[in-house]
Amino acid sequence: METKILKVDEESLALARQIIRGGGLVAMPTETVYGLGADGTDGEAVKKIYAVKGRPSDNPLIAHVHKDYDIEKLVYVEQDYAWKLKKAFMPGPLTMVFYSKGVISPVATCGGDTLAVRIPSHEGAQAFLKAVDVPVVAPSANVSKHVSPVTAQHVYDDLNGKIPLILDGGKCSGGIESTVLDVTEKVPRILRAGLVTREMIASVAGDCVYAEHKETDKVRSPGVKYGHYMPRAETARFTAEEKVAAFAYFDEAKKSGRKPVLLCETSLKEEIGERNVIFLGEDAREMASNLFYDLRAAEKTSDLIVVIEPRGTGGVYDGVMNRLTKAAKKCNG
Ligand code: AMP
Ligand code: MG
Repeated sequence: METKILKVDEESLALARQIIRGGGLVAMPTETVYGLGADGTDGEAVKKIYAVKGRPSDNPLIAHVHKDYDIEKLVYVEQDYAWKLKKAFMPGPLTMVFYSKGVISPVATCGGDTLAVRIPSHEGAQAFLKAVDVPVVAPSANVSKHVSPVTAQHVYDDLNGKIPLILDGGKCSGGIESTVLDVTEKVPRILRAGLVTREMIASVAGDCVYAEHKETDKVRSPGVKYGHYMPRAETARFTAEEKVAAFAYFDEAKKSGRKPVLLCETSLKEEIGERNVIFLGEDAREMASNLFYDLRAAEKTSDLIVVIEPRGTGGVYDGVMNRLTKAAKKCNG
């Protein structure tokens, strides 16, 4: 199958509609990462997403809808605070998990009683959702377990020959996936950290907690138990306090003939010296925006990625650290 990359315009949107309505897959830009979309009401189409990605069949998908779509067609909104959160953060990088009305195929919800819903703010995503005029279920448009894609080229690198169309909406500004929030109970619970932070949610909903993903916990977000965001190069992670050990690890690898690259916050510039480095940025938002882009750049040119964690905590740092701890193994030199 030929994979086309087309800028979002009238012609490509007409083609996207034809593909989606015909039970096919289209990759779409969003403000977080690129998504791989199918008509959420068509179980056979949804199965193709799992096949193309190699995604475990018990990991549910997020339904994406246009900003004018009535979400009560898909889900039961039982908590008043959920309406407040919708008003405050949608369209945007927030996904809310409600009890499902069963309109979306059980293939996408993995037979569960809940459905995750998101309204992306990206202009290209909105134009796509308007053109296809059905709820679109979409995970990130990468091969399962690989780093999420934030450009059309990243999607092409993973899925060339497997899907007919990638809508190119430029580099995703947010850079990490949406915050996934369980809103089925009295207190909203974060299942996956993201750009809409615990602090932001609590300021609107009155309270917000992180889900504890313990063995005994009722698993609400199956995705969290799988390997994720893994670069195709060995990746080692050090804390900011262990930076000297990280430098030594890098130097040792270089001496032994490897091609290492450091990934760290820009404030370490003075201490890096001549070492090969990609800077993630100066603050959490910048680091989120660059993280997947930089990991994909690093895996192309290097056989060892040495990550030094940012020093900040809370807010968007929670989302950045969540991705980093999955992308890279902890290493003590
Ligand atoms: P991805 O689209 O690849 O970023 O993955 C979607 C994330 O949302 C995964 O972590 C899923 O486990 C989570 N998710 C999707 N649907 C639900 C749901 N109904 N309940 C809880 N988590 C969900
Ligand atoms: Mg994903």
